Amino acid sequence: MKKVISSYGSKFNAMCCLIFGHHYTISRNVTSHIKEYKCLHCEKQVTTNAQGNLSNLTPERKDINEALQNIYQKRHSHSSHKQVA
Ligand SMILES: [Zn+2]
Repeated sequence: MKKVISSYGSKFNAMCCLIFGHHYTISRNVTSHIKEYKCLHCEKQVTTNAQGNLSNLTPERKDINEALQNIYQKRHSHSSHKQVA
């Protein structure tokens, strides 16, 4: 129930987003193509999906992204030689 007070302020910010649009910043680089974004005002989180579009960052997607990031980082640390595809 501690969230009640903080969500009050974000309601105002969310209204600004409705009028001006979200102000997304990159919150995490999952891979070179997939990133997670967070709105500075209402803290709405979105992510790049397989189609390259932005979609809501659900807990499920967050799990997928975490797995992807692990694979991506392993691959990059594994192959020390540079390979331009
Ligand atoms: Zn927003």
